[in-house]
Amino acid sequence: MSRTRAARIAALCFVVVACSTVAETGRSRIAWLPESYMSELGAAAYDQETSAKYPVISSGPQYEMVQRIGKRIAEAAKKDYAWEFRLLDAPDVVNAFCLPGGKVAVYTGLLKVTQNEDALACVMGHEVAHATAEHGNERMTQGLIQSGVLSITDLALQSFSKMDDTTRATTLEALGLASQLGAILPFSRAHESEADEIGLRYLIRAGYDPHEAPKLWARMAAAGGERPPEFLSTHPDPENRSKRLEELIPRLLAEEKGKRMVKR
Ligand SMILES: [Zn+2]
Repeated sequence: MSRTRAARIAALCFVVVACSTVAETGRSRIAWLPESYMSELGAAAYDQETSAKYPVISSGPQYEMVQRIGKRIAEAAKKDYAWEFRLLDAPDVVNAFCLPGGKVAVYTGLLKVTQNEDALACVMGHEVAHATAEHGNERMTQGLIQSGVLSITDLALQSFSKMDDTTRATTLEALGLASQLGAILPFSRAHESEADEIGLRYLIRAGYDPHEAPKLWARMAAAGGERPPEFLSTHPDPENRSKRLEELIPRLLAEEKGKRMVKR
């Protein structure tokens, strides 16, 4: 067998082996990069995307609320992450994100639209769902397949922390880190629907009211006006979303019955 052919077969086996399913929905997907590696990337990008850009708020009722929701959602997600929940002082930014490995950021501008704890829990549940369902990993894998940059995959399989500074910098740059991890680029429609569903499950388990989700999307649409919030630029179609969520809630409430781990 020629070396090229052997390499192709090996690559195919790798893809088949690397095919896995999303725990909460059973959807098959290809996500090559080890979860531990994605967590390292998330941790490396966290300061860069949060404290390097905005002041971090570490006391007060809004901070307490973010911590409280974060703790409940983390418990509902049952993921062994090094969770962190940062509130960023950015009154003009209507946004939130969760990097792989459970590094969450909420901008104070979002709180003007969420208006209550249940609605903020909807957004945080949704963002956390993108991370736990490993949407960033799937998207980076798709990028690697499309660009055929298999050498980067090899590189990625080395431990991130053991790389020397130059190699690490090159890797981050090559992977287009921040934009790939979910903080900037919009996810696909399939990922959005999946994050909506999983986020609602977390929300229900965490003891929050899922009926706030459609109301929140309606408020988000109204807040849009001439200059849509950042959150809307990566999460389009608030009206359709509201409707879909409304339809999803009865089924999820029935399926999650008895699984509410946190009583409120
Ligand atoms: Zn989303």
